[in-house]
Amino acid sequence: MSIEQNYQDILSQLPQNVKLVAVSKNHPSEKIKEVYDLGQKVFGENKVQELLEKQPVLPNDIEWHLIGHLQTNKVKYIAGFVAMIESVDSEKLLKEIDKEAAKSNRKINVLLQVKIAKEETKFGLTIDEAKAIFEEYLLETFPNIEIKGLMGMASFVDDESQIREEFSILKNLFDELSQLKPLETLSMGMSGDFPLAIESGSNSVRVGSAIFGERNY
Ligand SMILES: *Cc1c(COP(=O)(O)O)cnc(C)c1O
Repeated sequence: MSIEQNYQDILSQLPQNVKLVAVSKNHPSEKIKEVYDLGQKVFGENKVQELLEKQPVLPNDIEWHLIGHLQTNKVKYIAGFVAMIESVDSEKLLKEIDKEAAKSNRKINVLLQVKIAKEETKFGLTIDEAKAIFEEYLLETFPNIEIKGLMGMASFVDDESQIREEFSILKNLFDELSQLKPLETLSMGMSGDFPLAIESGSNSVRVGSAIFGERNY
């Protein structure tokens, strides 16, 4: 199928309230422009270097989401334009984003990335760490940051019940934190599992290969 067919196919599967982040990592700017021209405005990249190469050559109204692990020393390169950092996995990183947001005279939207997969994953906060950071945030500790919600990835397994269980952990935390301060975004679901994620309460899916095709790593 063509990129256009893939894209329309994904859109047709998303309920009205679910936002699509088109994950364009490892794909060239021309392909991104193709999807942009179909009406897509939100794109996700996982590497700062790649984002910095693409952002200047693509339209200004693209909302760039950073979805991969972010080193503190690289925050300054994207602080001026990034629409959302979905992968906040430490308090140290949050502090750095807050500092760089202030320098850029803007507020930066972020999601806390929570480790929900049973399998060993490198990045992501534990539930307790995420709660602790959110409580600090409520004390106005990070005035230049808006925590908009949570992001998580389920295990790469075929067992649907395990995937559902992992998504429901994040949904429960989302509901719990939303009682302290309403949250907007629950980012879960990728090409392989977004229908399950939506059933589990996701309202933002990050879809790459199902739109752009397989990546060559
Ligand atoms: C690559 C990536 C995706 C998209 O994965 P696909 O399987 O290609 O849809 C989503 N989220 C994160 C954090 C990623 O790194």
